[in-house]
Amino acid sequence: MFLDVSKNRSFDVLVIGGGPAGMAATVTASGEGRKVGLVDDNPDLGGQIWRGERKKPSSAEARVVFEELQKSTFEALPGTRIVGLVRPGTLLAEASGSLVELSYQSLILATGARELFLPFPGWTLPNVMGAGGLQALAKSGLPIAGKSVVVAGSGPLLLAVAAHLKKKGAILRGIFEQAPLSKLVKFGLGLWTEPSKISQAIDLRWQIGAVRYRAGAWPVEAVGGEVLRSVKLTDGKKVWSVDCDYLACGFGLVPNLELPAILGCSIGPGGTIVDEWQQTTVENVYCAGEATGVGGLDLSLFEGKIAGHAAASGRPDKARFLLNYRDKARRFARALDESFALRDELRHLAKADTIVCRCEDVPAGALAGRTSWVDAKLQTRCGMGPCQGRICGAATSFLHGWERGSVRPPIFPVGVENLAEVYSNSASSPV
Ligand SMILES: Cc1cc2nc3c(=O)[nH]c(=O)nc-3n(C[C@H](O)[C@H](O)[C@H](O)COP(=O)(O)OP(=O)(O)OC[C@H]3O[C@@H](n4cnc5c(N)ncnc54)[C@H](O)[C@@H]3O)c2cc1C
Repeated sequence: MFLDVSKNRSFDVLVIGGGPAGMAATVTASGEGRKVGLVDDNPDLGGQIWRGERKKPSSAEARVVFEELQKSTFEALPGTRIVGLVRPGTLLAEASGSLVELSYQSLILATGARELFLPFPGWTLPNVMGAGGLQALAKSGLPIAGKSVVVAGSGPLLLAVAAHLKKKGAILRGIFEQAPLSKLVKFGLGLWTEPSKISQAIDLRWQIGAVRYRAGAWPVEAVGGEVLRSVKLTDGKKVWSVDCDYLACGFGLVPNLELPAILGCSIGPGGTIVDEWQQTTVENVYCAGEATGVGGLDLSLFEGKIAGHAAASGRPDKARFLLNYRDKARRFARALDESFALRDELRHLAKADTIVCRCEDVPAGALAGRTSWVDAKLQTRCGMGPCQGRICGAATSFLHGWERGSVRPPIFPVGVENLAEVYSNSASSPV
C-alpha cells in the first residue's frame, strides 16, 4: 500500500495530538469558524490521561472538554500517525497501512510526553513496567485484581497510578519516591496558594488508603527468573526486598519532540521553544502541552486554548486573558520540576551487563568511554532499533549528559511497503 491520494486532506488548522492540549486547541480553533483537523495515533481521543473516557469521563475537567469537543465542528483523524514532513505546509501520515498527505495553513503540535525509564539490574524482566504503562494496560483490561504491585520512581504520576491500580483491585506493596522527604514537604507547603492541588493530593492519598508512601527510596534491582518475583529497594543506607507480581516504575516524563524537531522548531532544555502565543520558531507552527515542557494537565489545557486562538484567529490578543492562568500553571510546573529532580545515585544503578538499549541489547558497559550519542550509535548501535532511541535516548541523556542530535524520518516505524515512499516524499533525507 502506498500513498493513497484519495485520503489526502487539507485544513485551515491541523492539530497533532488528541490529549488535553490538542482537544482544547481543537475546540478553540473550531470556535473561530476554521476548518480544523485533529490527528491522533490512537483509536480514541483523550491522550495519556483521558484515553477511552469519552463515554464515561473520570473527572469534571474531562467531562467539560469532551462535551465541548462533542459540540465542535472538526474532522477527527484517529489511528493516524504523523511520520514525516513532505514539504512546509504538508505532513505525511500513516493510517490503516496507507500513507496520506495532510496539508495545513496553521499547525498545532500537541504531541505530549512519555515516561522516563532508567536502567537498573533486572529492569527488562517481564512484569517490570512503566508506571503509566501499567495504568494504561489496567485501563484497557489487563486483569490486575489480586496482583501485588510495587510502585516506584518519581513524580506525582506515581500517586495517580497507585490510586488507579488500587481501584482495579491490585494489592499495593508500597509507593517509593526517590525525591527526599525534605523537598516534598517544601513543595507541599508551597501549595497553600493552590487549594485545588491540595484537595487533589488529599483525594489521591485517601484513595490509596493505608498503603505506605516512602520518600527518599528507589529501586536498585528487579529480581526474578522467567518473570519478576521481587524488587530490591534502598534509601541509600540499607537495601531491602519486597515480593511482588508487578513493578510499576517511571522516573518522570520527557516531552515527545521528534515532530517539532523534524519541522525545524528550536528545542530548549525543557521542550519546544514557544513565544507568548505558543508559536514555535517556525512560522504558523504552534506547540502546546507537554511538548513545550512537562507541566501537568492545567498547563496543557491553557496552552492548548492559547495556541487554538492564535493559530485560528490571527488575533492572538483574544487569548490574552488566559496568559495569567498559563503563567501560574508554569510556575507550578517549575516547582514540581525542582521538587522531583532526579538524584545523582540513579546514574549509577546499572551494572556493566545491565541492558540500556533494549531494542539493540546494548549493555551499560559497552557505553562506558563513549563520548556522545552519535559515538554511541556508531560504535554500539545504541538507539538504532525500532524505537529509535525513544527510551534509551532520554536515559543516556540523564546518565551521560548526551544530546540526542538530529531526528530523521520516519519518526515512527512504518510498514516496509511505505518506507520508500516516506523517503521519496520527505523533505529531509535518510541517513
Ligand atoms: C503514560 C502516562 C500516563 C499518565 N497518566 C496520568 C494520570 O493518570 N494523571 C495525570 O494527572 N496525568 C497523567 N499523565 C500526565 C498527563 O498526560 C499530562 O499532564 C497532560 O495531560 C498531557 O497532555 P498533552 O495533551 O500535552 O499530551 P498527551 O495526553 O500525552 O497527548 C498527546 C497525544 O499525541 C499523540 N501523538 C504524539 N505524537 C504523535 C504523532 N506523531 N502522530 C499522531 N499522534 C501523536 C499521543 O499518542 C497522545 O495521544 C500521564 C502521562 C503519561 C506519559
